[in-house]
Order: sequence, then C-alpha cells, then structure tokens
Amino acid sequence: MLVEITSTIHVSNYCSLPVKCHFCGFAAGTSPEGYFQNFSRLSEDVKKAAISIEKSGIKRVSLSAGYGNFSLILRALETVKEHTNLKVLINVGGDLDKQKIKTLKSAGADTICCNLETTNRELFQKLKPSDSFEQRLKVCFWIKEEGIELSSGILLGIGETEKDREAHIKLLKEIEAEEIPIMRFQPYRGTPLENKQPPPIPTLINLIKKVKNEINPKRITIPFPTIDYNNLIEVIKAGATNIATVIPENYPFIVKGVAKPEAGILEKILPLLSSANIKTNVKTREADAKL
Ligand code: SF4
Repeated sequence: MLVEITSTIHVSNYCSLPVKCHFCGFAAGTSPEGYFQNFSRLSEDVKKAAISIEKSGIKRVSLSAGYGNFSLILRALETVKEHTNLKVLINVGGDLDKQKIKTLKSAGADTICCNLETTNRELFQKLKPSDSFEQRLKVCFWIKEEGIELSSGILLGIGETEKDREAHIKLLKEIEAEEIPIMRFQPYRGTPLENKQPPPIPTLINLIKKVKNEINPKRITIPFPTIDYNNLIEVIKAGATNIATVIPENYPFIVKGVAKPEAGILEKILPLLSSANIKTNVKTREADAKL
C-alpha cells in the first residue's frame, strides 16, 4: 500500500465572491478562527514555503486561493516550478476559463482542482449563493479537454442525501476525474453553518469505499483538517490514497484549512503510517541515510 502526501501553500485568502460560501472559514472576514485578515503571499514567501516542503521529502503541493487571484496563483506556480521539483495542484475553484487553464498547463500545473461540492443544485445554490454550479462543471470539462489531471471533490455532510451522493459519484465517473477529494464537513465558528455537526467517521468511510469501488480514481484525497490522527489509518484502509494539507514541522507560516484552522504535521503522520506498515512517497533524509 503506497500513500501519497500533498502539502499546501495558501496563496491568498482574498475571494471576490460577494456572498461567501456558508461553510467557508478560509476567505478573509469569514471566521475569527480562520485567517480572517486578508493576506497574499509574495513570491519570496511562496519560495520559502515550497523549499521547506521539498526539503521535508514531500513531492506534491497544492496552491490555492479564492476567486479573483489568477495572476497571483500563476506567479506562485512559476515560483514553485523555478525553485523546486514539486508537482503542483492548482485550486482557485471555478474562477477559470479555457485560456487560463492553457496558461496554467504551460506554466507546469500537473492537476487542477474544481470542486463541485454537491450535485444537488438547490443545495449548492443555498450554500454557495454567489457561485455557479454550471460554471464549475464547465471548468471540469475544460480541464479534461486540456489533458491536465482533474481533481473534483465531494463535500460530505452539508445536507445532501444518500441519493445526492450517488448522483455525484456517477457524475465524477462520467467526467473521469483522476482525483476525488472527499471533504468531511467541519463547522467554522462565525459562519452560517457554525452550529452544524460534522458527519460521523463511518459515513466518511462508507463514501470512500463507494468511490473506490465505483470509480477507483488515481487518487482519493482526504484533506487533513477534515480527519485527525486517530482516523488516519482507518481512512487509508478504506481506500484513501492521498493525504492532503500536510505541512512539515518547520513550515514557515501558519496554515488554517478551509474546513478547520489546522493542518496535518508530517512528522506526526509518518510514524503512524510506518507503525501500520503503510508506505508513502515521502522521501525523508532519514530514509535516504538508511539506503
Ligand atoms: S469556499 Fe472558496 S469560493 Fe467559497 S467563499 Fe471560500 S474561498 Fe471563496
């Protein structure tokens, strides 16, 4: 069993959507537990973060930002590619068109993420009043057309039914998403969903198994703030193949997830995986020294 680890650089928490998504604690002003203050990482900061990720042995990073940050995300991608050999996933939601996707591809993006969150259109509109499901779906098709890996995720436990989840799996199979993040909803204080409970872990495990059985994509991604260290082995045994939002101990910035103000720490994760006999693609200096 080989599990991939993906790190993260939050490039900017500015988001131009006039009404923020009801579950979002990432965008500026959404939650006092989140970043709250607006920030954008300059190239020097991106370089520092990317180098610390690569030095830790992690091979892949996600660069993310809210809507309205294309130039910034492109600059961040160019910086990561100039200074490291990291594979890069870009996540700016549905804020893309064909030309922007081509530009990201030419600059070296390996995967582009556009989460649909739920295929229940009514629920989507209720939780994301300023966003467009149809636009996001178009972006997914354009990413595929361009021949870049598509990552498109399911937000679990935001009011969708079992039938909605089945329809979502069917759609992701049809559009041939190579990577499927499954994000267990977590409430962020100060947001409209602050009093909603996260779905139980067995519901997450069930969904992972279904996605594995019915699609078996290249990656089933579980971002770290949506699980904790106690659930890590269980989700991998259910079929997760990529653990995301993981940073090394010496990462130069504080990382607050979209779902929860925390990230996974590589140095805590690796011993857990090793004691369960699960290998990763992370190449640490200690591993090198043993060769
Ligand atoms: S979830 Fe993404 S698109 Fe929605 S408000 Fe937050 S940053 Fe913007």
